[in-house]
Amino acid sequence: MWPKKVKEDALVSCRRKCCVCHMFCGRNIELHHIVMESKGGESTFDNCIPLCFNCHAEAGHYNNDHPKGTKYSSAELRRHRDNWYRTVQQLDLADHKWEANENKQPKEVYEDQVVTLKGFVWREAFPGPPNYDSFDTDRIETYWMLILPEPICLFANSFETEETIKIENIKKLQLCVDPEFYSSSKEIIRTDVELTGKLFMSITGHHHGDANFDIRGQHA
Ligand SMILES: [Zn+2]
Repeated sequence: MWPKKVKEDALVSCRRKCCVCHMFCGRNIELHHIVMESKGGESTFDNCIPLCFNCHAEAGHYNNDHPKGTKYSSAELRRHRDNWYRTVQQLDLADHKWEANENKQPKEVYEDQVVTLKGFVWREAFPGPPNYDSFDTDRIETYWMLILPEPICLFANSFETEETIKIENIKKLQLCVDPEFYSSSKEIIRTDVELTGKLFMSITGHHHGDANFDIRGQHA
């Protein structure tokens, strides 16, 4: 019998996936003694390898008197186990890093501060010249917008008085990009991306987002 702690540690280390074939097993996972108990193998974490039913049968049943196929050696099983535990550990680390980055989005941004923001790139059409008024009479202009998952607020200075203005509830940023960016970065449309740049205020009637996000010079 495996001690409770050994069992738990092994099952967590492999994420209940077989150490040889990497299949997710759920309840159908078994703990195998790498060195068999009959040969003095102990019920320790080091001597334990979680396996699916198939791999367990394969690893356990080999008839030396009637050799067929290729035997699983203890050293090999141990390496499979160590490789798989290491992979799971790396996956866990990557998950945590992703979660940490998720919450990294700044909530308050100052004009001209270089910030990195995550969002969804949305291409939006507006009436353009000559009257910027109607899709029927004007040419269509399209802009790329960055839709933020959570609203942010921007601190900017008033053009006239230098007074600090707080613009709240900013969700949609109009991207200011180099002309080449439209053709070189088409693949980011309708995807989640992370862009670096500087925010500046929208001028009503001129800009289409809650604020502008100037990413010129920040992206190759
Ligand atoms: Zn397996």
